[in-house]
Formats: sequence, structure tokens, C-alpha cells
Amino acid sequence: MILAEQLSKRYGRTVAVDGLSFAVRPGHVTGFLGPNGSGKSTTMRMFLGLDRPSAGRALIGGRRYDSLRHPLREVGALLEGRCAHPGRRAAHHLLYLARSNGIPARRVDEVLALAGLDGAAARRRGRGLSLGMAQRLGIAAALLGDPPVLLLDEPVNGLDPEGVHWLRALLRRYAAEGRTVLVSSHLMAETALTADRLVVIARGRLVADSTVDDFVAGA
Ligand code: ADP
Ligand code: ADP
Repeated sequence: MILAEQLSKRYGRTVAVDGLSFAVRPGHVTGFLGPNGSGKSTTMRMFLGLDRPSAGRALIGGRRYDSLRHPLREVGALLEGRCAHPGRRAAHHLLYLARSNGIPARRVDEVLALAGLDGAAARRRGRGLSLGMAQRLGIAAALLGDPPVLLLDEPVNGLDPEGVHWLRALLRRYAAEGRTVLVSSHLMAETALTADRLVVIARGRLVADSTVDDFVAGA
């Protein structure tokens, strides 16, 4: 389970996240929805130990990300700007992540195939990948450790319609397997097609925490 407890983050005078509390349960795709600048990325970064909360706690399975022994085996993450390594071939980038996280090398071929990057794409360097391919590579990296928890920040960015369809099926399958899946987006319509639960924020504060059906019905 993913848990935010009275989570806050200030950058100088900017309050990016403001006393946010919510829980994300296994077995669902939970959409993390809010307009641009509402604090989604900051929240994701705090879950992943990349930003320190100013107050409160961000926990995954009851623990802080920093304290996980093999982070990629426990939490698969996609963050903007961290999908590909510019100078490293796609397959090498994954192999490097696998080696440094105690993940068997055969997983590299498995996730490349899962992400539709087997073949020529796997031999391209990060800087030679299209936006959509880079996004697929970032998602492949998130799946590398076969993690029970997925945290994806705007995964649809750069994907073509076929990619969006692929991602949707993948996330539903992962949730059906009992994993915990949190996916941020600023687009309600797109999120409602994939997620069955929603956590909605605005200006760093919680606006709604419900099923998609209840949210759409205005309950
Ligand atoms: P979202 O992901 O929902 O678009 P962000 O978490 O990126 O929102 O941003 C929330 C707010 O925090 C915005 O006002 C943004 O400008 C600010 N912010 C985010 N990161 C930083 C930073 N490193 N320094 C200063 N302000 C930041
Ligand atoms: P570099 O800093 O070498 O250019 P990146 O910016 O791609 O590499 O990544 C920064 C750090 O995050 C590195 O330690 C890298 O291994 C790690 N990393 C990259 N992608 C992921 C991912 N999807 N999940 C977890 N860690 C990652």
C-alpha cells in the first residue's frame, strides 16, 4: 500500500503539497489527477525519496523508499526526464539497472518484449529514441524488478494511440494481479478510461478520494 500522511512540501514561499493524506490500495489502478502545477510530481518524488517532505510522511508498504534494500524490486517508477540514458543503448540502460538492483539479466529481454522495444529499438541510444520509445523504455525500467507497486508520473506523455492502448491493458493486468498501481495525469477523460479509483488534488490539497464511478456521478 502507498500512504501519504499529512504530507507537505514547500519550496521557499511556494507550497507545492499541503497536508495531503491518502492511501492507495492493491488490486486497483488509481489515477492521481490534478491540473498542471497541483503537486503531483512533487508528491511522486517524495514517495521515491527524491524530495524530502517539509512535513508528514510518504510511505510504500509502511516504509520510506530510502530504506528499501532493492528499490526496483519493490517499487517500479516512471518519472519525467529519467526514462532513458542519452548515451547508453536502451538494452544496456536496463542491464545496468538490473545489475545494480540484483535483478536477473534475463528480465531485460522480458521487459523489452513487454514494452514492444525488442529488435532495433533495443540497440538505439537514449538520445536516438523518439519520445514514445523513450517513454516505453521508462515503463520497461519500471517493470524490470517485477515490483508489487508501480508509481508512474504522466506515463501517457509521448505515447501514440497504440501505446496508450498497450499501457492501459498492461496497468489493468498488473492491478488484476493484486499489485498497487498509481498513475498521475492532468487529463480526467484519459484517466477514467484506465483507473477505477481516483485521488484528485488541486493546489497541493486533496479534493477527492473515491471510485471513478462515484466521482463521475458527483457522489
Ligand atoms: P504537477 O506535477 O501537478 O504539475 P508539481 O509537483 O510539478 O505539479 O509542482 C507543484 C508546484 O511546486 C508548482 O507551483 C511548481 O512550480 C512548484 N515546484 C515544483 N518543483 C519545484 C522546485 N524544484 N523548486 C521550486 N518550485 C517547485
Ligand atoms: P544518469 O544520472 O546516469 O544520466 P539517469 O538520469 O537516467 O542517469 O538516472 C539517474 C539515476 O536514477 C541513476 O542512478 C539511474 O540508475 C536511476 N534510474 C534511472 N531510471 C530509473 C528507473 N526507471 N527506476 C529507478 N531508477 C532509475
